[in-house]
Amino acid sequence: MSMFCYQCEMSQKDGCGSSGASVGTCGKDENLSRLQDIMIFGLKGLSAYREHLNELDSSLTKEIDDVMSETLYFTLTNVNFNFDDHINQLMKVGSAGVKVMDRLSNSHTSKFGIPTPVKVTQNKVEGKAILVSGHNLEMLEKLLIATKDKGINIYTHSEMLPAHGYPELRKYPHLKGNVGKAWFDQAKLMEKFTGTFVVNTNCIVPPKKNCTYLDRLFTYKIVGVEGATQIEDDNFDELIKRTLECEDANGVDLNEDTTLVTGHHYKTILTLAPQILDAIKGGKIKQFFVVAGCDAPGKGGEYYRELAQTLPKDTVILTSSCGKFRFNDIDFGEIEGTGIPRYLDLGQCNDSNGAVEIAKALSQALDTPINDLPVSIVLSWMEQKAVIILLALFSLGVKNIYLGPKPPQFVNEDIFNFLSQTFNLTLTTNAKDDLKKLLIA
Ligand code: SF4
Ligand code: SF4
Repeated sequence: MSMFCYQCEMSQKDGCGSSGASVGTCGKDENLSRLQDIMIFGLKGLSAYREHLNELDSSLTKEIDDVMSETLYFTLTNVNFNFDDHINQLMKVGSAGVKVMDRLSNSHTSKFGIPTPVKVTQNKVEGKAILVSGHNLEMLEKLLIATKDKGINIYTHSEMLPAHGYPELRKYPHLKGNVGKAWFDQAKLMEKFTGTFVVNTNCIVPPKKNCTYLDRLFTYKIVGVEGATQIEDDNFDELIKRTLECEDANGVDLNEDTTLVTGHHYKTILTLAPQILDAIKGGKIKQFFVVAGCDAPGKGGEYYRELAQTLPKDTVILTSSCGKFRFNDIDFGEIEGTGIPRYLDLGQCNDSNGAVEIAKALSQALDTPINDLPVSIVLSWMEQKAVIILLALFSLGVKNIYLGPKPPQFVNEDIFNFLSQTFNLTLTTNAKDDLKKLLIA
């Protein structure tokens, strides 16, 4: 189907485009229809970050809210049929994405301190335990306070891993370690994890009817699935009670002796700027690779592991979001003779602004435009937070991004050609061939 729209009374039977037409009754064509869809997808991602920002500081959201309502208005029937205006509106959405990520990041660091690198136990669980998944650090803090001295250990899952880097969160001794990988291992993991499980944002996996953990599954705020218990008004009493009734986690099949490293917030990395610059000038660091983004079930994500694993030893990997679980078990070591780690975990998907901040600092110090820096960006996308991140990067004029593991179905050939010509957006192929193209001689 080249387009689909059924939002107004003039809709053709079963929706404009459903029978193959590439122009709707109103005159909206396939490209405009898809660009409007992309706006809406970007707004979905933006709204998630806006909600977190609103929880931390509601005075910072007005500008974001204005872009959201203006963009929704833009997509109304018979408002705008101009391609360039659509691109401008998309860039406005992207700019709002930059602002929301910057403000959220600053709100996080002012509330929880600037993260510093930390080693976190992986898949090692003890005693009565709650596993927290999602992106909401504010909720984690509230939970840590509510469970203090209650004999309960708190573990992170997926996008909560970076929480361990924040001084005001890791000061709680019952924040123990990380369990599991990216969001989609939840169902399997919860079958063997004997404690309770809280999901405080996307991404939740709807439990199967015959699953054994529904009575141990709790959801927070906007998250919900049939049969799980919703935490109301930040009251964790029911969760604590259920956790204390659960079997101790001792002895379950979660007793590994491995660790993960997180906590390389960009503000911490910027304190290493003199050493990094020396290493670049001395030829010890040849290139930075931003290998970041979402993950989804399936083999597509193996591309990112293969890429990270085969990067030469004089390259630094910057990562964020849950896609890092494809390769964060690898010990990448340090750039020889410098003490600079080769693997830097900037944080959650909303911390993707960190890569931009680092690139800006490098650009200034080396007096080189961002797009000419020895920085390659290889992103993975899964859902609409990735769309807002991509729009944010475009709005900043960042070019030469590789995107995978699959082309987005909402981008047609015309729009892809436009993105390719304007931003040199490239789709990933296979790690070996892409690396040959990406490596600077
Ligand atoms: S807005 Fe245009 S394309 Fe959409 S249903 Fe109405 S006539 Fe069709
Ligand atoms: S990075 Fe994307 S896919 Fe992963 S948990 Fe966050 S929102 Fe979901």
